[in-house]
Amino acid sequence: MQKIKYSVVIPAYNEEEVINTSYSRLKEVMDKTDGAYELIFVNDGSADKTYELLKEIAKGDSNVRVINFARNFGHQLAVSAGLERAAGQAVIVIDADLQDPPEVMLEMIKLWKQGYDVVYGKRKKRQGETVFKKFTAFVYYRLLKSMSGMDMPLDAGDFRLMDRKVADVMVSMKEHNRYLRGMASWVGFKQIPCEFERNERFAGTTKYSLKKMLELAGNGIFSFSSKPMTASIKVGVLTCSLTFLWMVFYLIFSIIKRTFSYVTLAIGGLYGMIGLLLIAIGFCGVYIGRIYDEAKGRPLYLVANTLGYEEEEEIDR
Ligand code: UDP
Ligand code: MG
Repeated sequence: MQKIKYSVVIPAYNEEEVINTSYSRLKEVMDKTDGAYELIFVNDGSADKTYELLKEIAKGDSNVRVINFARNFGHQLAVSAGLERAAGQAVIVIDADLQDPPEVMLEMIKLWKQGYDVVYGKRKKRQGETVFKKFTAFVYYRLLKSMSGMDMPLDAGDFRLMDRKVADVMVSMKEHNRYLRGMASWVGFKQIPCEFERNERFAGTTKYSLKKMLELAGNGIFSFSSKPMTASIKVGVLTCSLTFLWMVFYLIFSIIKRTFSYVTLAIGGLYGMIGLLLIAIGFCGVYIGRIYDEAKGRPLYLVANTLGYEEEEEIDR
């Protein structure tokens, strides 16, 4: 059998209205590439006919693989399952609803051949999405970027190409609450955006309910932010310092004026205690954050290449 060069991972949840069209568009595009490919559809516990349709498609095309989930585990886990089984030298993740135009995959492949390890789709325009979604996405990506202290690309979803070595790292990251777009940018290597216009959904409605969207947003924030943990300590230290200064001034003032109020003293004491509590909570946060870091079991570092060692043979792209 020919070695597979490209794997395309397509998560699908209740996509009976689009799956056939999306298969033929993906096939049409991938037939134009220079190597053997596989289309890995992950049926994420669909309640409609998605699986039956995929079964038919797989029967007629040996390039098609289907992973059928036992129930709905969510988009991020569906993609993870596809990545785990992808055999290609380059792995592309794309939505089933044709919002990410399949033709862009050819551009991504071109960039990969130029030596880039991650080519992420950057949305230039978002058509057919509600103002609410556009607005929340706009605010969220910027908030996450400022909270994570990491250089996360703005307005990028999960439509991206990853080199084999990046896909391997993603699979090796065993964290349960997965925020793939954050993980893909955390790995580093050579990354480049590939701009595209996000189309309207081909058919059907969004499978991302508000609840799922909030879950995803939570995954992003809780898996990639370290700043809130120390923020509590900073506010606590500020509160304590201001209280201390205020008390010193008050004491001087009361000695000069020969007046003294126990109430003011008590209020000062309370503020001091609040500051100490904030510091204590911040410390707990930092400890928990460290436990969480260990639990995620991410690789400590990733080496892009070495010099002077016996090199592994580089694979032609
Ligand atoms: N999806 C999935 N499991 C889910 C929700 C969504 O596999 O629980 C798939 C869905 O079939 C689609 C992709 O994830 O291929 C993106 O979902 P959708 O298009 O509904 O999200 P939106 O584009 O509206 O953000
Ligand atoms: Mg969509």
